[in-house]
Amino acid sequence: MTATLINGKQIATQLRSELAEQVTELVSKGVQPSLAVILVGDDPASHSYVRGKEKACEKAGILSIVKRHPSSLKEDELLAEIDTLNEDSSVHGILVQMPLPDHISENAVLERIAVDKDVDGFHPVNAGRLITGKDSFKPCTPLGIMKMLEFSGVEPKGKHAVVVGRSHLVGKPVGQLLLNQDATVTYCHSKTNDLASITRQADILIAAVGRVNMIGVEHVKPGAAVIDVGINRLDNGKLSGDVQFDEVQERAGWITPVPGGVGPMTITMLLYNTVAAARGKMSNES
Ligand code: NDP
Repeated sequence: MTATLINGKQIATQLRSELAEQVTELVSKGVQPSLAVILVGDDPASHSYVRGKEKACEKAGILSIVKRHPSSLKEDELLAEIDTLNEDSSVHGILVQMPLPDHISENAVLERIAVDKDVDGFHPVNAGRLITGKDSFKPCTPLGIMKMLEFSGVEPKGKHAVVVGRSHLVGKPVGQLLLNQDATVTYCHSKTNDLASITRQADILIAAVGRVNMIGVEHVKPGAAVIDVGINRLDNGKLSGDVQFDEVQERAGWITPVPGGVGPMTITMLLYNTVAAARGKMSNES
């Protein structure tokens, strides 16, 4: 058996063109969707992510406002900037690029963003709303994973989903989204004993660890949907996921590649959340 490839790049392209149409419609009604991104310091990866977000916004017709600051920026100055953006009705989404310099509390910053502009979905109120099944902005990577499953016809209801990784960013929220769609969810992490015996039970296996090749064929049930969230930079400069792609694709039913899998979906979901915010909703579903 060879797995069906879940092509994140292709799904992202389709979703982005649908979003661009929605933006045109909003603009014709006098609403210009806009996203404010705050970037502090000179981390090259962060600068590159922010440029990627800027470009994607531009292509979709979303106005992006990037506020770049030196790493010497004080926490109260950053909080004051967030307050200004919170009050600016022409700004629909606000995102603060992480990581922040050590002297700034990430929690204080995330909690300062208005809940209805929190398009990254990291505000504790949005996390709480997600758990309690209320409308919320969902974190972009987990939401992107759910869209990929939906596009591929993989229905979570009644399935056993195993999530390897329990970060606030990826593992926990993707497990919650799967649970909300009636999957039976198991979380694994660095203290899990006999990982393979658990992951082999998974109909849907999410690998969100950040360790190259850690999921091999022995971790996978035949026919499972395997979603590789990991992004690992190899010595040769290439990107690799957490899954041994070549071997696992012979056993899985569906598989995502790295690159070209979950990655392109993450920014797409940021655009999705921003368009939803511009519509005054926490979901873009009509
Ligand atoms: P974190 O480092 O925050 O979390 C990693 C998780 O993996 C932790 O829960 C950790 O367990 C668990 N873990 C570590 N070692 C093992 C092990 N040997 N067995 C089982 N579990 C283990 O990472 P993130 O969640 O932020 O990101 C995960 C990966 O996804 C990274 O490669 C990151 O680059 C990538 N990523 C990709 C995105 C995309 O758009 N494609 C977006 C965001 C992230 P414990 O809690 O016990 O420490």
